[in-house]
Amino acid sequence: MLIIGFFSFWLGACIGSFLNVVVWRVPRGESIVRPPSHCPKCNASIKWHQNIPILSWLALRGRCANCREPISPRYILVELLTGLLFLAAFWKCSPVYASVGPDGVASFTRIIGLPVVWWVWISLMVVGSFIDFDHQLLPDFVTVGGMILGVVYACIECALLFVGVGATMEALRPLMTSLVGLAFGFGLMWLIRYVGTKAFKREAMGLGDVFLMGAIGALFGPVSVMVTLVVSAVAGSIVGVMLILLSKTKLGSFMEIPYGPYICMGCLAWMFFGPELVRWYLDLVGF
Ligand SMILES: [Zn+2]
Repeated sequence: MLIIGFFSFWLGACIGSFLNVVVWRVPRGESIVRPPSHCPKCNASIKWHQNIPILSWLALRGRCANCREPISPRYILVELLTGLLFLAAFWKCSPVYASVGPDGVASFTRIIGLPVVWWVWISLMVVGSFIDFDHQLLPDFVTVGGMILGVVYACIECALLFVGVGATMEALRPLMTSLVGLAFGFGLMWLIRYVGTKAFKREAMGLGDVFLMGAIGALFGPVSVMVTLVVSAVAGSIVGVMLILLSKTKLGSFMEIPYGPYICMGCLAWMFFGPELVRWYLDLVGF
């Protein structure tokens, strides 16, 4: 267990290293494979032993080995973040390993499939958040990619349930949940965007955010959409108020903070604490 946990973290850190490249190059229309990693200042190519996630940045104390130009701490941050999220995803999915029941086939997909789906989606959210933060746009390969990932995984689950428990309504449930979630997430955000744009007489939210919530619904179902929306709105408001208090920025520029990273934060809250958050809320309102 410990070995797989460490492997998850290290895999995440290595993927995070690659995500740094994607975040920098894709919005600039550059290839993600060529040319190989190089220092943006002196163009010196980065040798394999200078490209080890986390460790290299620490060993070089965040500076280029050739010209000593500082390298943004964001590189190590993204590697650490992705590593920790991969580890958390493995930990969160691990109870499934013990639950191979009568539908053993279906459980098998969850053993292999679920952590992989979570890892892919975490990677897409990391890329989407940082590109949105830098360029105020969410690439289609993140949002539409997430929708496809959710629906395809639901189809695989259905197919294996058909094999495991036969052609029942139960076997159709994953796909139904995914499609209802997609429609609900997309529809709800589209409505908020429409009303907000009318009320503020300006674009209240990007289309990318609408697509992003559709992807979350397709992956995790309609309840996740509500939790994600509430958590992202609360987190966005807290940070927004803090920014206004700290730098006295006007309300207008507060609106410019991209919403995508907050939606991703809300989605992570659902992924790791979803049932607890729903329980806490129901207790609060007295259910
Ligand atoms: Zn350099």
